[in-house]
Amino acid sequence: MSLEKAGGRFCSGKRAGLPAQRPFPVIQKVVASMAHLQEEKLRLQEELLALQEKLAARESEEIAVSVQLRGQVENLKANLREQAQEIGRLRSEMGGTDAEKHRDLLVAENERLRQEMKAGEGELRELRRQQAACRDCTHLQENAGLQERLCQLQREAEEARAKLAELELEVQQKTNRLAEVELRLKDSLAERAQEEERLSRRLRDSQETIASLRAQPQQIKYIIKTVEVESAKAKQALCESQSRNQYLQEQVGMQRQVLKEMEQQLQSSQKTAAQLRAQIAMYESELERAHGQMLEEMQVMEDEKNRAIEEAFSRAQVEMKAVHENLAGVRTNLLTLQPALRTLTHDYNSLKRQVRDFPLLLQETLRSARAEIGQAIEEVNSTNRELLRKYRRELQLRKKCHNELVRLKGNIRVFGRVRPITKEDGEGPEAVSAVTFDADDDAVLHLLHKGKQVSFELDKVFPPQASQEEVFQEVQALVTSCIDGYNVCIFAYGQTGAGKTYTMEGTSTNPGINQRALQLLFSEVRSKAADWDYAISVSVAEIYNEALRDLLGKEPQEKLEIKLCPDGSGQLYVPGLTEFSVQSVEDINKVFEFGHVNRVTECTNLNEHSSRSHALLIITVRGLDRSTGLRTTGKLNLVDLAGSERVGRSGAEGSRLREAQYINRSLSALGDVIYALRSRQGHVPFRNSKLTYLLQDSLSGDSKTLMMVQVSPAEKNSSETLCSLKFAERVRSVELGPVSRKAELVSWPSQEQLEGDLPGSSSRGHASPSPGLPSGRTTSIRRKLQTSA
Ligand code: ADP
Ligand code: MG
Repeated sequence: MSLEKAGGRFCSGKRAGLPAQRPFPVIQKVVASMAHLQEEKLRLQEELLALQEKLAARESEEIAVSVQLRGQVENLKANLREQAQEIGRLRSEMGGTDAEKHRDLLVAENERLRQEMKAGEGELRELRRQQAACRDCTHLQENAGLQERLCQLQREAEEARAKLAELELEVQQKTNRLAEVELRLKDSLAERAQEEERLSRRLRDSQETIASLRAQPQQIKYIIKTVEVESAKAKQALCESQSRNQYLQEQVGMQRQVLKEMEQQLQSSQKTAAQLRAQIAMYESELERAHGQMLEEMQVMEDEKNRAIEEAFSRAQVEMKAVHENLAGVRTNLLTLQPALRTLTHDYNSLKRQVRDFPLLLQETLRSARAEIGQAIEEVNSTNRELLRKYRRELQLRKKCHNELVRLKGNIRVFGRVRPITKEDGEGPEAVSAVTFDADDDAVLHLLHKGKQVSFELDKVFPPQASQEEVFQEVQALVTSCIDGYNVCIFAYGQTGAGKTYTMEGTSTNPGINQRALQLLFSEVRSKAADWDYAISVSVAEIYNEALRDLLGKEPQEKLEIKLCPDGSGQLYVPGLTEFSVQSVEDINKVFEFGHVNRVTECTNLNEHSSRSHALLIITVRGLDRSTGLRTTGKLNLVDLAGSERVGRSGAEGSRLREAQYINRSLSALGDVIYALRSRQGHVPFRNSKLTYLLQDSLSGDSKTLMMVQVSPAEKNSSETLCSLKFAERVRSVELGPVSRKAELVSWPSQEQLEGDLPGSSSRGHASPSPGLPSGRTTSIRRKLQTSA
């Protein structure tokens, strides 16, 4: 049961049974009656004071009377004392006055009230004890309220009791005083009666004496006279006594009156006491009711507590049942788990042992692991050293093998590229393609010339549909070998309009070998950047009429000279040839643009000019292997040769003839050099032209050369195509080996000779100094080609 609920019930009970402020009017009444009693007490005190004064006055009067009557009453004193004693005795026998009885009653009543109060206190203590017992229950708050109220009531009762005691004390005092006054009054009355009696007796005696004396003679008369005199005195005294008596009687009356009033006051006091008692009784009944209510509440609470306990108990029982069921399940589980626990314990113990041994094991393992690692590191280091040694040896071997391969394969290779038919070729039978290809062999092409099909075998033939990409793929191995420190030359040879510039430079959207080679070099250099430092630089030059000009220089017209290096290394160099360092494709584009602009400003007809001059792009790649300190320098020379068409034959004159002669001479010189190189002649005529002289380093030794022979497929160009292909085949037909060495005496055919040669005719032997040439392989292919035709 909740505390609020209990409190609510208690409050509602109080509202139903009692006025909300009921105890206070009672207190107020008690207080008012207290005040009234206080007033009454004051009044009585005043009256007592007045009585005391009166009594004092009376006493003084009595003292005066007694002094006056001392003589007469002296002898009566003893009697009076006796009488007083008698009165006291009688009084004690009578058992006290009414007031005393009242007082005794009040005392008894008071005692009874005290007993009841004690009983009330006992009950209160019992209640407190019960409250203490009920301290833990939820009705503590209500009990505290009730207790407080009880305390308050107790306090009020205590106050009322104190007031009552005070009143009783007052009554006691008043009763005592009244008793004293009564005693005195009685004494006075008795005294007066005695005095009266004594006086009357004396009066009688005197009258008797007078009468007896009257009966006697003279003497008697004298005596009578004396007695008369005495009698007059006595009479006077009697009168005085009587008046005195009268006064005393009045006083007694008055005292009686006072007594009566005091009795009345006593009665009113008793009434007040009765009222107080009634109030106390009412208050007690209220207390009892409150107690009863409290008990009731406590009972209700007890019931609720019991009910709650019962509910809790039943719930607990249900839960207990569930718990029991669970317990049973757990027990069964426990039974099944026990074997598992045993195995677990066993495992745990073994694990514990392992854990205990683990640090030692770990240390041991670590020690051995460290030793192993150290050993492994040492092994790896030694392996690395060994590998590095092997790698260097391999590098050397590779280079050697490469050189050997190049030597075996020939470091000069000849490719042919046939451009597609263009608008410029016009229409009609002349614009028909005279070139066909071998489906089975990409190194062979057939030319229909003057009704005859002539077949040529090159290292590789690119048909018109071959893309720039495909062409570059075949070239890129050469380009990258430049990174390894080889010198490379790629020439584009052919008549004007055969596609040399297209192959070398290409268009902006479809670049040629030049740009692709540089891009490839950049990416290769980047991929090797971990071990190598590379620097790439470019020069752009032109050879026109045997004059070398720097197209990147400040003065492009200036003719440059090729000179021997002064260091005595035998190397050539071109003083004043500009070399641009390039790091990106953007740099290359800038360089090309610059070179192009220089070339344009230097000539009136670019197309014509370009076809009459050799254009060179010289790329130098310098590398440093950071691990070995090895330095390499490779040169990639990309040459767009002048048109190979036979100008001189058409009877050109003047500058045109001179141009043609220069071109013929330089192309023949190139052919001579290549032939001499390929046939491993002792003397290579590099100095016969500016071009070969400039490229001397890049053509000799283990350098690599690619001749890209460009041809037009158009019927009308078949003669020029034939010449170009003859040039290509002748370059290629120079065989390596002992036979080729014999070719030392043979010179390169002139353009005219080329033109005059016919395929398949015996004249081809002009390139071969002995009838045994050309070699069996070429002859057999040729035979095959001829039979197919
Ligand atoms: P050259 O430099 O030998 O005088 P060009 O490179 O200027 O010849 O080529 C002449 C024309 O033929 C140009 O218009 C060029 O675009 C075109 N041409 C050459 N080769 C190809 C090819 N493989 N594919 C498409 N067009 C080509
Ligand atoms: Mg060109």
